[in-house]
Amino acid sequence: ALTIGIVGLPNVGKSTLFNALTRAQVLAANYPFATIEPNVGVVPLPDPRLDRLAEVFASERVVPATVSFVDIAGIVKGASEGEGLGNKFLANIREADAICQVTRAFADPDVVHVDGRVSPKDDIETINTELVLADLQTLEKAIPRLEKEVRGKKADQALLDAAVGAQRLLETGTTLFQGAAAAGLDPERVAELQLMTSKPFIYVFNTDDDGLADTAMQDELRAFVAPADAIFLDAKFESELVELEPDEAAEMLAESGQAEPGLDQLARVGFHTLGLQTYLTAGPKEARAWTIGQGWTAPQAAGVIHTDFQRGFIKAEVVHFEDLVAAGSVAAARAAGKARIEGKDYVMADGDVVEFRFNV
Ligand code: GDP
Repeated sequence: ALTIGIVGLPNVGKSTLFNALTRAQVLAANYPFATIEPNVGVVPLPDPRLDRLAEVFASERVVPATVSFVDIAGIVKGASEGEGLGNKFLANIREADAICQVTRAFADPDVVHVDGRVSPKDDIETINTELVLADLQTLEKAIPRLEKEVRGKKADQALLDAAVGAQRLLETGTTLFQGAAAAGLDPERVAELQLMTSKPFIYVFNTDDDGLADTAMQDELRAFVAPADAIFLDAKFESELVELEPDEAAEMLAESGQAEPGLDQLARVGFHTLGLQTYLTAGPKEARAWTIGQGWTAPQAAGVIHTDFQRGFIKAEVVHFEDLVAAGSVAAARAAGKARIEGKDYVMADGDVVEFRFNV
């Protein structure tokens, strides 16, 4: 499964947030999740469509899609030099498919800031600098190797061009995620280089009541991190919220004036950042969301349920969620001409409610 690595300077609230994430996972533990690892938080993707489907099909339970967050030890200045946790830290980041940087935007004088002052922009620069330097080190070794391979016709000139272009961009201090498109670099070639700063980024600003109400500050930080997504939450509040019974949590959330828990936003943004989408299945046992990539075909989607479904794929009956709910049942959707029989070339859409037909 694709994972999002959580990084950030010490004392910004990473553990607090991660504990909330793992607690959310425990709460959802009656779902068939993958094995629980201590540094991985597998959180349910909130999806109100599942509850509606469960009503239509009188399903016993709902099974949401999930997003995996990996807790990566705190970055410190000098990580790219291999100091302290540096090398292990960088190795962990390399394995993540996206990077979620937690940044402190709460004031609390009782919590020491490593640099002695609270400044989200400076914190982001500190971490970006470390990642940029690490990528530059990678390229310093890769470029001479690629030059040799191009001469020996073992590598494409286009890959070497991408590497040199990436180096130029990184030397200006810009991450590839932020600057590669504007610099005209070939995204596929850049991806082949497997550099850390070309992974998609998400920023979590850990803030307090004042910060959650300060839309001017939020707009400024959003613009600063674009095209990355920014989420503003109070990690301490989130960790308290997941300890409560659902009705108490709803009450506390309403009192806070927030529309939904920050963790829900984080799960949704994370899922989207990873380029994922869901299709749905439903029956008397369960209403369930299945995770697929964008652009996947029906047989590929079937393979997520079982490889036999993909191998023996014949066709899929597809009703879009909105049509199904409007019709009230699959039979009614069929009668209204809203159920489609799709073949192996069908490209799945988010919210398709599907029943596969297959040979065993
Ligand atoms: P980490 O080093 O990034 O994992 O940070 P921790 O999660 O351990 O948090 C560091 C300290 O900040 C702890 O004492 C937390 O209780 C406190 N803390 C974390 N989040 C918040 C927050 O949103 N508001 C306030 N006031 N304190 C927080």
